[in-house]
Amino acid sequence: MTGDRQGGSLRGGARHIGIAGAGLLGRLCAWHLASQGLSVDVFDPAPDAGPCFADRAQPRVGLSPAWTGGGGAADPVWPQAAGFTAAGMLSPIAELDNAEPALAALGWRSIVLWRAITQALGRTPGSFAPFYAQRGSWMLAHRPDLGSAQRVLARLAAAGRSAAWQEAVSLAYRRFLIDDDAIPALGLTEASAQGMPQALSLAQLQAQEPSLAGAAHAWFLPAEGQLDTANTLLALVLAARTLSGPSGPGRVNWHWGERVTQVGEDARLHLHGPGGERVATFDQVIDTRGLGARPDLPMRGVRGELVWLHAPGHGLTRPVRLLHPRHRVYIVPRPGDLLLVGASEIESEDRSPVSLRSAVELMAAAHSVLPAAAEARVVRLDVNLRPALPDNGPRIEVAGRRLRINGLFRHGWLLAPALLQQALQAADLPTTLAGVALDEVGGLGEAPWLHAAQACA
Ligand SMILES: Cc1cc2nc3c(=O)[nH]c(=O)nc-3n(C[C@H](O)[C@H](O)[C@H](O)COP(=O)(O)OP(=O)(O)OC[C@H]3O[C@@H](n4cnc5c(N)ncnc54)[C@H](O)[C@@H]3O)c2cc1C
Repeated sequence: MTGDRQGGSLRGGARHIGIAGAGLLGRLCAWHLASQGLSVDVFDPAPDAGPCFADRAQPRVGLSPAWTGGGGAADPVWPQAAGFTAAGMLSPIAELDNAEPALAALGWRSIVLWRAITQALGRTPGSFAPFYAQRGSWMLAHRPDLGSAQRVLARLAAAGRSAAWQEAVSLAYRRFLIDDDAIPALGLTEASAQGMPQALSLAQLQAQEPSLAGAAHAWFLPAEGQLDTANTLLALVLAARTLSGPSGPGRVNWHWGERVTQVGEDARLHLHGPGGERVATFDQVIDTRGLGARPDLPMRGVRGELVWLHAPGHGLTRPVRLLHPRHRVYIVPRPGDLLLVGASEIESEDRSPVSLRSAVELMAAAHSVLPAAAEARVVRLDVNLRPALPDNGPRIEVAGRRLRINGLFRHGWLLAPALLQQALQAADLPTTLAGVALDEVGGLGEAPWLHAAQACA
């Protein structure tokens, strides 16, 4: 067994990997390892690979025609992965207000990786390229909310002076992401080249994004990205059917309807499925169960609500974040005239339908800056729980032949590929992801979320 020559060796010649959980991390990891020639078995209690949105009125809205499987028609007892609900904002700058600078800075690596991953999915026979864009985003504030917006900007500026942020800006951001031509084209100054919000006049905003009206203050967040979460999760499963890597053809076996009750350091998975209990043994196991990792990890769910609108001709081209003293609201344009408006953040594990208050606040905020939303049709109201650890930070843990990755909280899509590379390195698994080597996008910096407890047995 030779393993990945560009990106690390394989621990003890590991060929067969068991993964607990087929959400965002589980699917990404399975697809990646199989593309390196490994054999992977993935277990998840979900009935199949398709999404099952909380509101099932229009199950196929927003799903690629390339996906012919389930789209919410089933009635699972198992709640779907948080990854399906997410709006897919890839916002390192805005997340500086919610995460340590070293963590938010990882987002720049992830954006480079997502670009490569979505392109690779598009090249794989039987799969498709999910929507991905990296055009920057807007931050807006109404006139009375300027004070609160300025406090946010001051926090971002302070975090932006940190060494971790500066390093990521000079490596991933300046080398791979910011298009130098875009800076003058958008009327931006050199300051925005430092990965910080750039204040714009309303005339500049209007010139770039004519559909936005109503806000009094605007900032541009250069190089931020977005992707279509549900379709990326589906494309990963489709692509994983036909893979071949440096160590030969890889394969993913998806085991739907099977719950993992224990993930052992001895690389055993204890499984509970329709046929009863069983134990499966692998060379290495990976625990990506999100909230389902309880009680092994002290996870908690943080409720988020999202409104899907169909608004033909809305004209919005980039995600918008509205700064407000009480809540943050974002509007994310997706192909097919869709707008996603989200997301509340409520310290509750309640999975009941979207509340009137949240729906009103989200939709009123969207309409206050995007008048075209007035005639939009509400096509879906979705609810899910973000998997969070007590410190709201992620955790990578290696113990024996078990790797755990969890706690991706509100920025899982922003962090997943970069964190996965760090986790794979810690577990001696192949790290070159979609052709992007670990050291290609600059150093990884400090990783206090990495707990490489013991050497592998
Ligand atoms: C409303 C909302 C909006 C969001 N918006 C964004 C955003 O714009 N940008 C961003 O970066 N992030 C966003 N997120 C966060 C992101 O979705 C999560 O951080 C991410 O999905 C976490 O990935 P995960 O793989 O750890 O967990 P999940 O995606 O939840 O996957 C966990 C998987 O494990 C399975 N599982 C559970 N228990 C077991 C078991 N016992 N055995 C086997 N399998 C099990 C589950 O069925 C599921 O498939 C948002 C989240 C929400 C809820």
